[in-house]
Amino acid sequence: MDRPSPPAPPSPAAPKDVRLLPKAHLHLHFTGSMRTSTLLELADRYGIRLPEALSSGTPPKLRATDERGWFRFQRLYDAARSCLRTADDIRRLVREAAEEDVAAGARWLEIQVDPTSYATRLGGLTPTMEIVLDAVRSAERDTGLGIGVVIAANRMKHPLEARTLARLAVRYADEGVVGFGLSNDERRGMARDFDRAFAIARRGGLRAVPHGGELAGPESVRDCLDDLGAARVGHGVRSAEDPALVRRLAESGVVCEVCPASNVALGVYDKAEDVPLRALFEAGVKIALGADDPLLFGSRLAEQYALAREVHGFSDAELGVLARQSVEGSAVPDALRAEMLAGIGEWVDGSS
Ligand SMILES: [Zn+2]
Repeated sequence: MDRPSPPAPPSPAAPKDVRLLPKAHLHLHFTGSMRTSTLLELADRYGIRLPEALSSGTPPKLRATDERGWFRFQRLYDAARSCLRTADDIRRLVREAAEEDVAAGARWLEIQVDPTSYATRLGGLTPTMEIVLDAVRSAERDTGLGIGVVIAANRMKHPLEARTLARLAVRYADEGVVGFGLSNDERRGMARDFDRAFAIARRGGLRAVPHGGELAGPESVRDCLDDLGAARVGHGVRSAEDPALVRRLAESGVVCEVCPASNVALGVYDKAEDVPLRALFEAGVKIALGADDPLLFGSRLAEQYALAREVHGFSDAELGVLARQSVEGSAVPDALRAEMLAGIGEWVDGSS
């Protein structure tokens, strides 16, 4: 007699696709967002010989925790930046960054740019900002991604330059600039040297979003809070070394823009599991995952959420909380914010 074949054992539910989880991307640098293929094409067009670390297609090994390593990272970044020469190059960069973020599930991006880096080629600071903001509007139209711009000053330069940039940022606050940042080596420029620039930016309605707690320890994050009025901290991961600071971040709701792949690529932590993502999350610190410089670190936004799941054991519900925190820490307009929060709920509750 034929026996009915036993029912197939229930297959474990396939993991939800993190690319479908709506998220805000709050830590992405302009040149660092470039596709490798685009970099190679532009270098070829302009006859620029790229360092092998950039042309090989595999992310370079860097150790930015020592100054030589950081200097090498900056040299690579400068070489890539020298391939962006015209308004068309800028338009292409922003459109492709937006396409990549849409593919990763971002609905809102805040892209960080230091316009002084491009101003000599593009005819000055104001023309550069006009080109960047025009590129942003086109990319929004073409891809459906919402995009805000963060103007970032450079810690290695004179604070007066930062003030000029802060005034420029405020001038464009109604045209897409949403924040004011501070990048480059935390071990050099003191945060308080830039306090007046940040005061100008905050008075002009911009969010203060300086880098801190990446190459330097908790004291650097504290300076960002005390001297610059940070609403978010770029990285901020080294706060985990100081329980009192962690409590302060959690209580104040200041968001840390944690970039796990970047931290390992730059040697801030040896291994992915050493990034204190779980510790900060469980302590109640708000986190927005970011890719930082995909061109140099080899991974984009969705991969950061995949790392949270695979390396740090984040459940789907917890990934949903991370996505929600990225939205809450962003400058996304209200209508899109509501849509994103609803989409996150659906991703967590839905069956796929
Ligand atoms: Zn950064």
